[in-house]
Amino acid sequence: MIATFTYAAEEALALPQTLFQNVDIFNGTENTLYQDHFVLVEGNKIASISDAAIEVREDAVIIDGSGKTLTPGFIEAHAHLMLMGPSLPAMESSVTWEDFAIHGTRMAEMYLMQGFTTVRDAGGANGGLRRAIDAGQIVGPRYYPSGAFLSTRGGHADFANYTAPVGEQTNFGRLNMAQEVDSVAEVNKFARNNFRMGATQLKYMQSGGVVSAFDPWQLLAGSPEEIAAAVAVADSYGSYVMAHSYRKEAIIGALNSGVRSIEHGFMFDCEISDLMKEKGAYITTNLTAFDPNLLEIPAIKNVPASLAKAKSASAAFEDYIPNMKKCPAPRAFQTDCVGSVDACNIQIAYEKKLNNDFFGAFESMKTLTSVGGELVALSGDFMNPYPEAKLGVIEVGAYADVLLLDGNPLEDFSVVGTGEKWFGAEKRPESPDSIKLIMKDGVIYKNSL
Ligand SMILES: [Zn+2]
Repeated sequence: MIATFTYAAEEALALPQTLFQNVDIFNGTENTLYQDHFVLVEGNKIASISDAAIEVREDAVIIDGSGKTLTPGFIEAHAHLMLMGPSLPAMESSVTWEDFAIHGTRMAEMYLMQGFTTVRDAGGANGGLRRAIDAGQIVGPRYYPSGAFLSTRGGHADFANYTAPVGEQTNFGRLNMAQEVDSVAEVNKFARNNFRMGATQLKYMQSGGVVSAFDPWQLLAGSPEEIAAAVAVADSYGSYVMAHSYRKEAIIGALNSGVRSIEHGFMFDCEISDLMKEKGAYITTNLTAFDPNLLEIPAIKNVPASLAKAKSASAAFEDYIPNMKKCPAPRAFQTDCVGSVDACNIQIAYEKKLNNDFFGAFESMKTLTSVGGELVALSGDFMNPYPEAKLGVIEVGAYADVLLLDGNPLEDFSVVGTGEKWFGAEKRPESPDSIKLIMKDGVIYKNSL
């Protein structure tokens, strides 16, 4: 016993050390910077934080961060790394597993280089990409996939063409990227299959959408029993359900069925905020939905049915931002990009900017860090692939997922890598200049100091 203990202690001493010195810390939760601090990373965790010098071994890597801000790595709470577009029917009819895998690989690297050390995938990806990232075979963020979208016939993840017979096998179905579920039994079967295939939580399509073919955005898809069935399966894995919910009735129904993560939630109001608090729930919203130029997007402008839906949706969603300011609820960052790597890079940068425009720098920094960390941890003790420590915060014991930004994001938010333009924007660089260093799990992936 004594020999084993000694060996373990020696091994602990040998963990690689990285010392950040003279950094200003944004810790993910407080509206302040801790000036001129020292942060020691040992292995893949933050080992100590001090306003005085920290002693390290001779072989420690020392990084001087004078004038830089150390923040938690960013967390994307709603992406679709496999979905390259150009449209959902095009992917259903002619995209193969190779195309999806290659796109997902490139998206994963792009996300990490934009400062996102964690991504939660909101449908269309199983466990393979995560296994490859975590094994070090490809470069990417920590990754929380949802498996196949669970959607009713004619719902928001029914990507088949108009003439597809009911129950016919689809491309998305074969690859377990989207499954049609029209009964409690089907929800049970495909929800369980998602966890079998590597999902860390489930995604249920409970409302319709704007650019999809068959579903009015106001649709209440799935019965309360079906949604509750998804929640029960997730619960049996110690995890949770995220639901694509637009209408107030859909959001309230989801919360009352046990859904913990409301996606989009455009008709959010103070009553919903109260219910969210009672249930311990979160919301993620793509703020591009409130962009003044939304109706100019080609996928909307050029399709009369989508344009009509977008106009009625915009009118119904106009109180979201005032309501979120009046009755704040825990809100995580969401981009929801479906498209090429370059297009998604632009959309991410623009989504960062809109967060600051609508909610200011501190709320946006929390949204990008600590709130996302709490949200992904809902995947529970045995489905969470990263259960040993906290994400989204700078504190002793947390995972060493950190960025060094060239300036103070609470005063100049653009240092997080914002973009001024969405459609028509120029191609963005592989990584923003102002993100000087990217560390995930104690490993440095970028250092331009
Ligand atoms: Zn989505």
